[in-house]
Parts: sequence; C-alpha cells; structure tokens
Amino acid sequence: MRYSMVNGERIEAQPGLSGQCPSCGSLTIAKCGELKVRHWAHKGNRKCDPWWENETEWHRTWKNCFPMDWQEIIHQDKNGERHIADVKTAQGWVLEFQHSFLKPEERRARNAFYEKLIWVVNGVRRMRDKTQFFKLLHEMNPISTNPHIRKVYLDECALLKEWSGIHCPVFIDFEEDDLWCLMPTNQNMWGYVVAFPRHEFIAFHNKGADQVQNFDDCLNKLNSFLNLILKQRLIQQERSALQASSFRRNFLRKQSFRL
Ligand SMILES: [Zn+2]
Repeated sequence: MRYSMVNGERIEAQPGLSGQCPSCGSLTIAKCGELKVRHWAHKGNRKCDPWWENETEWHRTWKNCFPMDWQEIIHQDKNGERHIADVKTAQGWVLEFQHSFLKPEERRARNAFYEKLIWVVNGVRRMRDKTQFFKLLHEMNPISTNPHIRKVYLDECALLKEWSGIHCPVFIDFEEDDLWCLMPTNQNMWGYVVAFPRHEFIAFHNKGADQVQNFDDCLNKLNSFLNLILKQRLIQQERSALQASSFRRNFLRKQSFRL
C-alpha cells in the first residue's frame, strides 16, 4: 500500500515508521528498501486484501495522475467484503492498474464487485505483447481513422485474448502517447481496439462529478459509433453479395440463350 494511517493522518512510507492499515486496522511497517517502491506492509507480510498486488513504479506513475484522496479507496459490499481500489474518481469510476497476470476468476470477481470499473493494463510487462499487438495493427487497415479503430484477430495477441470478452472497459498501456481501448464488442475471435490519447484519458478522469461531458458519455459514443460502422459494413456486404448473385444469374441466362 502507498498509504497508512499514522497519528490519524494518511501518509506515505518513511524509514522507521509504523502505522495502521486504513482497511483492516492492523499494524503496518514502512518498507523503504532499494529494490521495491516505498510501501507499507502488514506486519508478518499478511495481506488483508487478496486482490492487492505489489506496486511498481508503473502503478505509482499512474496514481500520481490523480489526487491523493482518490487513491486507495476502501470499498465494502453489503456482505462485508472489502477491497482497496487503486483510484476512485469523482465520477464514480474505479480505476484498477494491473501489472501482473490475473486469473480469469479473479478478474470476473473484481468486475462484479465494482459497479463502474476500468482496467488499465500494463502492456509492456511481457516483451511479446507489444510486438504481437503492433504487428496485428499493421496487418489490418483502420475501419475508422477518427476515432482510430482497428479490427484485430484476438487469437494472435495473447494479451488481447486474456482481456477480451468482459463488459468493463480495458485500456492497454504500451508506454506510447495513445492507450489502446479493447472494445467490449467482439465477433468470434475478432475484436476492436480504439486509440485513446493518454492525456485525454487522464484529463477525463480528473473531472469533477458535475462536469457535463463525462467518461460514460464518451464510452457510449465510441460503442455506438463502432456498432454503426459494423452495421453499415454488413449492409454493404449483403448488397455486394446480392449484386454478385444477380450478375451470375444474368450471365447464365445469356449463356443458355446463346446455346
Ligand atoms: Zn489491512
């Protein structure tokens, strides 16, 4: 954890300090070694939140994009189950920054636990993921350039395959200017990804609750736009198929007339 309670205040780990876990109230010890980012650990390395993963510089860089009091927010459901969200925005979105591999059952549990959840996934943890992803992008033409949407074959990118088929938005961070949003719409093993500028993602989620254009509207617009394009392409395909069959019929008729 980044924060613990010390004398009633949420503070970051500093050498020699001990504190109290804001979630379970147990004793926490400041860990300020060279190898890992400074953090708090429960005494005896117990974890009160089984979903918590050890943080890296990547987590901290993301968290630093948001106010301190939006970070590490404790959620409790009606059954008393408690988890600590990485960030909760003023518009009610929980942002989870996922560095390590996540088992499908844990991902499903987290999707169900938080009402409005967005995943931000580290796309450079495994070398092959970024290579596979950009190879796929270059193989297919964009189906729209503004916004930039590409159709991708999920089976050829392990990271996309792992994160496909869930209803929550997934943004993949390949350490580029754009994040890539994996859209919830997919057909068999084909999926769709949209480039989303990093600075816009951060700006959107720093907005207050009273802002007119919120992230929900933005996602709905993207989904509607994609569905519209897919519908238009389907109509076009059906039209082309009809034209082809009519051409074939005319051709056969002319041939039989000649005979
Ligand atoms: Zn705890």
